[in-house]
Amino acid sequence: MTCFENGTNTNNTIRFTTGQPNQKNNDRIDQLAKPEWFKTKFVQNKFTEHISALMGSYNLHSVCESAHCPNIHECWSMGTATFMVMGEVCTRGCRFCAIKTMAQPPPLDPNEPENLAAAVSSLNLKYIVITSVARDDLEDDGSGHFAQCIRAIKRKMPQLIVEVLVPDFKAKKFAIQKIVDAKPDVVSHNVETVERLTRNIRDIRAKYRQSLEALALYRELSEGKIITKSGMMVGLGETEEEVRQTMKDLRDIGVELFTIGQYLRPTQEVRYVPVKEYVHPDVFKKYEQMGYDAGFKYVASGPFVRSSYKAAEPFIANLIESRI
Ligand code: SF4
Repeated sequence: MTCFENGTNTNNTIRFTTGQPNQKNNDRIDQLAKPEWFKTKFVQNKFTEHISALMGSYNLHSVCESAHCPNIHECWSMGTATFMVMGEVCTRGCRFCAIKTMAQPPPLDPNEPENLAAAVSSLNLKYIVITSVARDDLEDDGSGHFAQCIRAIKRKMPQLIVEVLVPDFKAKKFAIQKIVDAKPDVVSHNVETVERLTRNIRDIRAKYRQSLEALALYRELSEGKIITKSGMMVGLGETEEEVRQTMKDLRDIGVELFTIGQYLRPTQEVRYVPVKEYVHPDVFKKYEQMGYDAGFKYVASGPFVRSSYKAAEPFIANLIESRI
């Protein structure tokens, strides 16, 4: 899903294994205690349960829920929710992501676009985020199906603001054109981490420069009409200078919205990279300012920030309206 909705681990400690997988001598488990500011609980209440039941009845999946995102109540009560399309199994295996992986996932559900539109129309949402797994098994990487989901929603609710958090579609122009033609309001694609760490953190098919190329194509093909957004995780061993450079790379291709949040290891399995550091909230404040200095129109920066965090913030809604 090219997104870092990885706020799943709500325990007070993160455990990580040093050394190579499956080597008995190297399976020492270290614990990096979560600092005080990071202790949180997944809150479930009647409101979230209602939305959750509705999604289940349409055979839909919400990333907010499956990732046990700690911001779920805050976002849903503000009228934002993130839906995941094209199944729950990804063709890629990024080392920070809990989504299941398979070379040949089940076929796409042709009813999904209409089901999604029906479910969304029965909720009182102002802003919807649609995301997906990567589908390298499909000729257009699933962009055509993604575009149908956008169209079905826009047909039913022309006023609803639609943000799509898309895979890189391997920066294929024809695949990206399909998304552009469906006219989402915001296209988001995350670089996830700094360039140096990309090879170790993301699936081998996901390249830093390829992500930049894809983001640049949305602006080019929509002649600047589509607002682009990107995000990254910290706490993976990146330096401040590398974060600055990532912001610059994104601004150089015209990305306007930026999110930055703490990486959390989904589980203790060795396939997931360990947390190197819990970044202090003061550093997030610094990154926020750095982002505005770099020229982003909106920056969300903080330990719990995820790509879709408060996506409907009034500022973004106004920015979109001013473009229509
Ligand atoms: S494995 Fe990578 S590409 Fe697949 S859903 Fe997770 S982050 Fe996205």
